[in-house]
Amino acid sequence: MRCIDSPDGLFHPTTIERREPGPNEVLFDVLFAGICHSDIHTARSEWGQAHYPLVPGHELAGIVTQVGENVTGFQVGDHVGVGCFVDSCRECESCLAGKEQFCTGAGRTIWTYNTLDHYGKYTDGGYSTAITVDEKYLLHIPDSLPLDAAAPLLCAGITTYSPLRKWGAGPGKQVAIVGMGGLGHVAVKIAVALGAEVSVISQTRSKEDDGRRFGAVDYIATSEPGALKRVAGKFDLVLSTVAAEEDITPLVATCKRGGVFVDVGMPAGKSQLSLKALCGIQAIVAASMIGGIPETQEMLDFCGEHGITAQVEVISGDQISAAYDNVVKSRVRYRYVIDTSTFPEV
Ligand SMILES: [Zn+2]
Ligand SMILES: [Zn+2]
Repeated sequence: MRCIDSPDGLFHPTTIERREPGPNEVLFDVLFAGICHSDIHTARSEWGQAHYPLVPGHELAGIVTQVGENVTGFQVGDHVGVGCFVDSCRECESCLAGKEQFCTGAGRTIWTYNTLDHYGKYTDGGYSTAITVDEKYLLHIPDSLPLDAAAPLLCAGITTYSPLRKWGAGPGKQVAIVGMGGLGHVAVKIAVALGAEVSVISQTRSKEDDGRRFGAVDYIATSEPGALKRVAGKFDLVLSTVAAEEDITPLVATCKRGGVFVDVGMPAGKSQLSLKALCGIQAIVAASMIGGIPETQEMLDFCGEHGITAQVEVISGDQISAAYDNVVKSRVRYRYVIDTSTFPEV
């Protein structure tokens, strides 16, 4: 395991206990864990005080090693994954609708790390070699996908797949993906596979070759004067993956009349929007947050059919702290994934 002890600390090896799987639980070896920007916000207590020592990680991929006696959906040897949460109340309206990330019941959503669980312990996430999870919160990763490059689908994949599906990305639709980082590059691939005509909106042209290789047909660099004006009124759907606290009016204005602007970047501060401009195009402004278990499985199956994975840089456990700095500086192409076999035996 790798943990961090304070907002400005460094990751170091530690040992944590995983419980023996109960009747409905599965124990699996975590082979790869993606590094999501929200791991960094949490580890550095930028989204509120974290509980230390903290083991982050909510993009887990691995292989089942043990199943409880009542488990029916998984067998030893299966390729599996865990995303942003590991449990919820299972009874509230959100849970019954398969939207467990919005659980309003007792205990609410139990996030994969940094959350007090039903056992009275804070959850420890994916930067670890094994984890025990109830089978209801476990996903099948198609055998056709390599586990290292599939791991980021558990957050970056579902975060972008869900709003692309909900708002109708598909044949005959013009879709813009704003930002081409960990989320955005997967969003481009998924939107292309859904059949949409995809454009990338990014600050500079540094990622243009990659964007076109992922299937985008147009690339707009916002640092170039008049760039957004050129595509004003063009898109049926604009998916913003950036966390910019800025005036989003020029981006919303790239929507067609009745088009949709949807945010998944979750800027911590306030963004601005001219409602007058919004009225002029009758656009819809929406937001989205990951996806529930049924939709996450649907996304993984879709990615299996279409051969979609993240573009990853696989790193060892002792590179996590340096990798965090690179993510903050947008230096990763496009997602770091930790190879947990590099963790020392303790
Ligand atoms: Zn994430
Ligand atoms: Zn619930």
